[in-house]
Amino acid sequence: NGDFTTAVAGKLTMATNAAFPPYEYVEGGQITGIDAEIAAAIAEKLGLELQIDDMEFDSITETVKGGKADIGLAGMTVTPDRQEEVDFTVSYATGIQVVIVTEDSTITSVDDLFADNASHVIGVQRNTTGDIFATDDIESEGKGTVDRYSKGADAVQALKTGKVDCVIIDNEPAKAFVAEVEGLKILDTEYAVEDYAAAMSKENPALYEAVNTALQELIDDGTIQGIIDKYINA
Ligand code: GLN
Repeated sequence: NGDFTTAVAGKLTMATNAAFPPYEYVEGGQITGIDAEIAAAIAEKLGLELQIDDMEFDSITETVKGGKADIGLAGMTVTPDRQEEVDFTVSYATGIQVVIVTEDSTITSVDDLFADNASHVIGVQRNTTGDIFATDDIESEGKGTVDRYSKGADAVQALKTGKVDCVIIDNEPAKAFVAEVEGLKILDTEYAVEDYAAAMSKENPALYEAVNTALQELIDDGTIQGIIDKYINA
C-alpha cells in the first residue's frame, strides 16, 4: 500500500455535507449513503478506520486543501476552478443538474430560465455547481437573481413557500427532496451533466495514489456499482 500519512494516524478522515441524499445523509444519528459506503470501502482497503466530519459544503475544499481531512466526498462535481485547489480522484458517478418547480409553475423547461425577459428567483445550495451556473448564466446576464441556502432541503422549502421560483440542484437529491414535499416536480429538461469525484490535497501525493488506486479497484470489481445500486434504482 505504500507509505502515506493521513490527517489523523490510522484514520481516513472524510469531509462531507450530510444533507445530500442518497450520497450522504443522517439516519438514526449516523451518516450514511453512497459516499459514506465508498469511503468505508476505501478505508478498509487501506487498513484505516473511517472518520466522517460533517460540515457546510462550502468548507469541504478548504478543509481538504489544508490537510485537515483526507478526502472530500460529497457528490462533488469536478470543475476546472476546483481543480486549481485540489486534486480529484477518478470519477465514480455522474450527476445531473436539474430544475425543481412547483407543479403549477410557469417555468416548463430549462430554456425559460434563459429567455430574454426572464426574471426568476432561483434557489440553490451555496457554492455548488447549481449556484455557479445560475450565477454565471442567469444572474450575471440580468435574467434573474440567485437565493443561496446552506442546505438543498432549505432551498426546496423556500420553493414550497414561494420565496423562490425554482431550485437548481443535482438529480438524486432532487428526487429525494421532491418525494418529501408535496406539490413539486422536476423538469424533464436537464441543465448539465457532471462527474463526481473525491477531492484530495495536492500536497499528499502518496495518499492520493493509495486512495485513487483503491477507488479504481473498487470500480473495476463492481463494488462501487453495487453500492450505488443499493441507493438508486434506475
Ligand atoms: N454536485 C454539486 C457540486 O459539486 C453539489 C454537491 C453537494 O451539494 N453536495 O457542486
